[in-house]
This record gives sequence, structure tokens and C-alpha cells, in this order.
Amino acid sequence: MGGYLIAGGRLLDATGASPQDGVSVLVEGNRIRKIGPDREVAAAAETLGGYRTIDASGRTVMPGMIDAHCHISYGDILSFEELDLYAGVEYRTLRAANNARKVLRAGVTAFSDPGSTWNISVAVRDAINAGLIEGPRMASAGRYITTFNAIGSPWPSWMEHPKSSFAVLCNTREEMVTEARREIKDGVDIVKVAGDGDVLTGEAELAGSIGLDDLQAIAEVTHRLGKVCTIHARSGRAAADAIRAGFDWIIHGSYMSEDDLDVLFRNPTPLIPTFSLLANTLEWGPDLGCSDFILDAYKDEVERLATVVSRAHAEGIAIIAGTDSGQGSVPYGEWHAREMEHLMTYGGLSAMEAIRAGTANAALTLGMEDEIGTLEEGKLADILVVDGDPLADIAVLQDRERLAVVMKDGAVVDTEAPIPEPARYNWEKPMLYWEDSRMPTQSFVREHATSKPRWMQQERRLDAAE
Ligand SMILES: [Zn+2]
Repeated sequence: MGGYLIAGGRLLDATGASPQDGVSVLVEGNRIRKIGPDREVAAAAETLGGYRTIDASGRTVMPGMIDAHCHISYGDILSFEELDLYAGVEYRTLRAANNARKVLRAGVTAFSDPGSTWNISVAVRDAINAGLIEGPRMASAGRYITTFNAIGSPWPSWMEHPKSSFAVLCNTREEMVTEARREIKDGVDIVKVAGDGDVLTGEAELAGSIGLDDLQAIAEVTHRLGKVCTIHARSGRAAADAIRAGFDWIIHGSYMSEDDLDVLFRNPTPLIPTFSLLANTLEWGPDLGCSDFILDAYKDEVERLATVVSRAHAEGIAIIAGTDSGQGSVPYGEWHAREMEHLMTYGGLSAMEAIRAGTANAALTLGMEDEIGTLEEGKLADILVVDGDPLADIAVLQDRERLAVVMKDGAVVDTEAPIPEPARYNWEKPMLYWEDSRMPTQSFVREHATSKPRWMQQERRLDAAE
């Protein structure tokens, strides 16, 4: 079995230890066999039946990044209609396989997928594990369990909930438990619950729309069957109830009050705040026609979430980096590393803490904290060699040119070979006539139209004559 000698770099092992210079890493097969002073590790390399050397001098050697919140089946959507309705399951699955490659090339060697349309996430995970397609390690949820009053049910009650939706409508406890059982039978790692809404699905739903008893029933059956559960909980009430019910980690938590935080501190539960979706929308939404309604709501949410994360971090709650990639404002392969920067900017984490949020802490969302997320002897060889010092400037991790080597499972990823940037079919997109919400009244058209009907031209001439 061959291996790699990653020689002479600065080791940032993400255990929390200070970086060390003049340290080499020896990879044998898919595992880290030895970490130590250059000369010692070079000697150990000679005992392998052949190896290749990666020169890491002047570079940082660190674990592959882990995105704890990436929906591989979504397809960079711009609307719920696009998410739930348009592309069929077959095309979505092929599209997801291509997107998994983009995620890996961004230096993300593992991700957790908390919610999928159909059972696409499980299929992509299995295809990657089987060696059929290229992609990061994955843990997969199926469709969200949702009531009428949460984000998984954006549709009016007078139409059937679409079976192509990212969520399954379960308004009774029996339906919820049955759906959890079905998903686990179909191979999910994670059961995902929609605990409330977001600004698009209605403010009232932010109150937390699923009861503690229901959450306890879902957690009980999920844990009994050896799986884990998580929740979309923007409201403090849904987050606090999920924590009480023993959910394994909380996603968002934006509007937790002091009382809700108290529940968190008494029952420490990891938190995935997910600033990227909100912060990205705020940054370029205004230029891309995002409505003031959404921009105002997200601005408020970022401020609230920043307070929650600062408080939770100060109390020692594990903060985990997750981006919600797959949403249109967080396209695949582009922004995974940015969440760490947001955790510093908004949450007050140090660079080291932010890097751990996107590596060691995030490994928990794949149930692989003993195998990945840090560089230690015996662990799986998911490794980045980075041109630059992420501790001095965490943004270097966002620059793919600086990812000199991306290694997953002991194999160097080919980041050069072109991968397709697919065209978008009309049938994938919402059937809008135009993006602008203004109606083309005569005065609007007179102002904006490039060609005008003859009578308008005549009128203008008359105006000019006056
Ligand atoms: Zn999400």
C-alpha cells in the first residue's frame, strides 16, 4: 500500500493546539499513519512500499473542511416552487451528483445534509461511498417532517401537499413517528424536523409550531433506531423544546430569548447558526432584486442570531459551521468556507475557534468525530494543504487557488479537470413573466419602454412641438 509524505508544512491540526512548524504528515492508504518532526516522519515513509511527496513548505496543513448544513438535492434554488415542484426526481439526482463534485473541490471533504427532496441525499451518499461518483463524505437526512404551520408546508391548505416536496406533511404524532420510521428504513442518517417557518412562510409560524410531546416522540423513535435528529428552529420556542426533547443539534436558533438560552445552557446542545444564507442575501440581495421585506427581516435576524451565538459561545456551547448551500444565495462550491469568517464577525469566535467550528466540531454531524475533523495519527486522511495562514486570514480558505491540495480518504482530488456548469432549463425555474413587481401601466411604459406604439410616438411629437 502506497502513501503520501506531506512534508515540511505548518501543521494546524484543529485539536485546538497551536500550529507547529517543521512537521510532516504521513498518509498510508486512507489513514494518517504518523505526524511528527520532518526527519522522523520521512524515515517512517521509507518503511512504506512506495510513497509520493507533497511539498508543504510555506503552507498550512489542516483537516478538510466540513459543512454541517448543505442540501445537495436543492439545486441552487431561488424559490420554494423551484425547490418543491419543477425538476423531476431523475434530473435532480443527476444534478446533485454534479454539485457534490463542486462541494469537494472547494476543500469540503465532508458535509451533513439536513433535508432532501425525495431520497436523493441518501442516493448521492451511497453513490459516493460506492465509488460511482466523486464527492465528499456525507450524512443524509430525507424529507423534513413538517406540520401545516412550518417551513416544510409553504403551500396553501386547499391543495395537496406535493409528493415532490422537501418535506412530508405530518399533522399528527402518529404520522410523524411513522415518517421517521419510514425514512430510517430507507437509509437516512438524520431525521429532520421543521420546527417553525421563516420570513417567507409567515411571521406567526416563527412562534414554534410543533409541540414538545411530538418532538419527544420523534426523538425517542429516532434514537431507539440508532439514528440522530435535528430541527429547523428559528424561533426560540422550537429550539428550546427540541433541546428539551433531546435533539442532537439545533439549526438556526436565531430568536432564542434569555429563557430559551437558559434551557440550552442547562442541556448543552450543539448549534449550527447558519449566517451564510442571511449574510449573503443581505450583501448582494439589493443588487439582485431581493425584496425589501426579506432584506429587512434578514437584517433583524442576523442581529438577533449574532447575540445568540455570542452568548452560546461564551457559555461553551459547541458552535458548528453550516452554510445552507443549495439555496440560491449560497450556491454549491462557493461559500462553504465563508461561514467561519461569519462566525468570527458576528459570533465573536477566534480564528482557531472558527476553524474548529468548520472541522472538528462539524464532524459530529456525520457521527464521525473519532474519524475526521482533526489531523491525528490513526484518523482518516481528509487533508488540505493551503497556500497561506488561515489563522492570520481565515478568508484564504475561500480562495480555491490557494487550496494547493485537497485530499479525501487518502486520495488527492483532481481539482483541475473541468466539470460542467450546466445550462438551466426553463422547466427548472419559476414561471414568472418578469422579475419586477411593478405593473406596466402606461406611465411606467412611457418611462421605460425602448419602443413605443405609434400613437405614443405621435403624442411625443406633439409634446415636442409645444
Ligand atoms: Zn437548510
